[in-house]
Amino acid sequence: MARAAASSDPVVDVWIQIRDELHSRGLRWTPQRRLILEALEATKGHITGSELVERCRERDPDTTPSTVYRTLGVLEELGYLSHSHSAAGREEYHVLPEAEHAHLQCRSCGQTWELDAAAAASVVRPIQRRFGFRADVSHLTIAGRCADCAAGTKGDAVAK
Ligand SMILES: [Zn+2]
Ligand SMILES: [Zn+2]
Ligand SMILES: [Zn+2]
Repeated sequence: MARAAASSDPVVDVWIQIRDELHSRGLRWTPQRRLILEALEATKGHITGSELVERCRERDPDTTPSTVYRTLGVLEELGYLSHSHSAAGREEYHVLPEAEHAHLQCRSCGQTWELDAAAAASVVRPIQRRFGFRADVSHLTIAGRCADCAAGTKGDAVAK
């Protein structure tokens, strides 16, 4: 991405830029959209669409899911978000994704871990060699059992 920032705080810059770009895409800068961006800005790691709707509703009960999802879609098109899928197929958004990565998800406790590009490459490289198939690493989520659950050291399982 060639998004040069002139100011001393590149993060703040990015959010100003997003606002301008939404505007140029014909999306009005409404209080609801501002709230969506604020909630995203405060997000560390992943967030699902429904979690985002919930977070916005905590502050504005009138938040409409369609506005949230439409804004997410445009932000993803603009490259500010990327999505991956949980083992159950649910879409999870990454805010300002820095590096491509895959995920591990435990079926017993539901926890997820990020698998960095190098580790993910060691998984997909043999597949490419054998099938000539280039895996989309960001869409790779490996379901299984984490070390703690396998060892039985985690108390309550929330298996779905
Ligand atoms: Zn997808
Ligand atoms: Zn687990
Ligand atoms: Zn991730």
